[in-house]
Amino acid sequence: MKAMILRGISPVENEPLKMEEIPDPSPGLEQILVRISACGICHTELDEIEGRLPPKLPIVLGHQIVGTVVRSGSGAARFHAGDRVGIAWIHSACGKCPFCKGGNENLCLEFRGTGCHAHGGCAQFTVVSEDFAYLIPERFSDAQATPLLCAGAIGYRDLILSGIKKGQTLGLFGFGASAHIVIQLARYWGCNVFVFTRGETHRNLAKKLGASWAGGPEDDPPGKVHCAIDFTPVGETVPRALRVLEKGGRLVLAVIRKRNPIPPLDYKLLWDEKEIKSVANITRKDAQEFLSLAAEIPIIPEVQEFKLGEANQALILLKQGRIQGAGVLRIQDESG
Ligand SMILES: [Zn+2]
Ligand SMILES: [Zn+2]
Repeated sequence: MKAMILRGISPVENEPLKMEEIPDPSPGLEQILVRISACGICHTELDEIEGRLPPKLPIVLGHQIVGTVVRSGSGAARFHAGDRVGIAWIHSACGKCPFCKGGNENLCLEFRGTGCHAHGGCAQFTVVSEDFAYLIPERFSDAQATPLLCAGAIGYRDLILSGIKKGQTLGLFGFGASAHIVIQLARYWGCNVFVFTRGETHRNLAKKLGASWAGGPEDDPPGKVHCAIDFTPVGETVPRALRVLEKGGRLVLAVIRKRNPIPPLDYKLLWDEKEIKSVANITRKDAQEFLSLAAEIPIIPEVQEFKLGEANQALILLKQGRIQGAGVLRIQDESG
């Protein structure tokens, strides 16, 4: 099969992903073989490529995968050939450690990430345990469904962890793939939303999706926010978000890695019982619940499509903040 392979850590501007011909994977015990039709891209790929979250090399990146089941390995009976399934960041968890047993498989001691510890979606085929795949609701196209699997599922987890309640104001810092899904969820739940982001196009999309105010990261909003979610890859956002956070409010940090450290924090910004919480990975429950909710609301993500062979260029645009909505790689038979 054709796959875009990463063989070494490098700035993404060097275009380190190379198209290669590698053997087709074959499904092991309780696994399914999936023919991939689309794979979303996210900041985690940049963290992997540039070494902030080093993957197991060489690796096929990509953890927002939509495709159809080709066949099942021995012991796998959950899906049939032709079923349309999604695969998310959680590739496997042990099921036995205290975290798994306590319902926090996202914190599993043996957590393995798709496209990080196991080959992911920048390829024509992949394999995964049948327990870590999800049926994709019919109302989404393949490309539309991909961002639901990471940007959406983790955004859902961010929103739950933020503790936001109906009628309260939520602040979103950064307005990429995840935030543009979270705003739709928050509006559905009856929350007021302020969006802090650079770039006119992002602010316009925020308003179109229901933000009552959208400004730059340093601008003063019309009031305090009860909860905030920081999607930006930079450390400076943390003190900025705390400055506009209401007393007793919680700031959720949604990224896996920040490109630069959080600047020294004046304790005054954190006082008044404010909290900071990070989010690590997702559980299968997050993915499953969010897919159903997204189909019910419905949340239809805006996507910008690229060919598999354009993965480097798409990731460079993502790094520059120039993708509108979510970036998606289309994987066709010739994969050019
Ligand atoms: Zn575990
Ligand atoms: Zn992701």
